[in-house]
Amino acid sequence: MGSYRRHLVVYALICAAIQYILTKGRFDALSSEDLIAFAIGGIYTLLPDIDSKTSKARTTLNEAIMTIIVFLAAYEIFFGEQNTIYYILYLSFFLLTLNFLRHRGFIHTIYAGAILSLPIAIISPYYAAMGFLGYVIHLFVDGKLSH
Ligand SMILES: [Zn+2]
Repeated sequence: MGSYRRHLVVYALICAAIQYILTKGRFDALSSEDLIAFAIGGIYTLLPDIDSKTSKARTTLNEAIMTIIVFLAAYEIFFGEQNTIYYILYLSFFLLTLNFLRHRGFIHTIYAGAILSLPIAIISPYYAAMGFLGYVIHLFVDGKLSH
């Protein structure tokens, strides 16, 4: 089982247990907001491994950013003078920066989880809380919560 699958399975099991306790087993009580929050937590439970070059999170992020860069470059070429070059430079710089992250370094701390979850609170504190929960569960599975 890949590392990202183990993280997703543990996250899903813990969420199911919490849901079971909170609703006394009534899973039909889930709203669409609950499902979105669950999905956000699922993304965040994979996020810490972006500091590993070979992780699913990192390769997916790399592919997503490279795709965006290609689209931005095409947009720049066909429409011109859209300042997309700055976005391309920023995204390229971001991709390069990822290479300097130490695996299981700062990204694998509860502080990084708080910093990365907090911006979602602009949309919904509930989503931010679930993102943070997902992040913390990742750290727990990695054994990074014990010190
Ligand atoms: Zn990890």
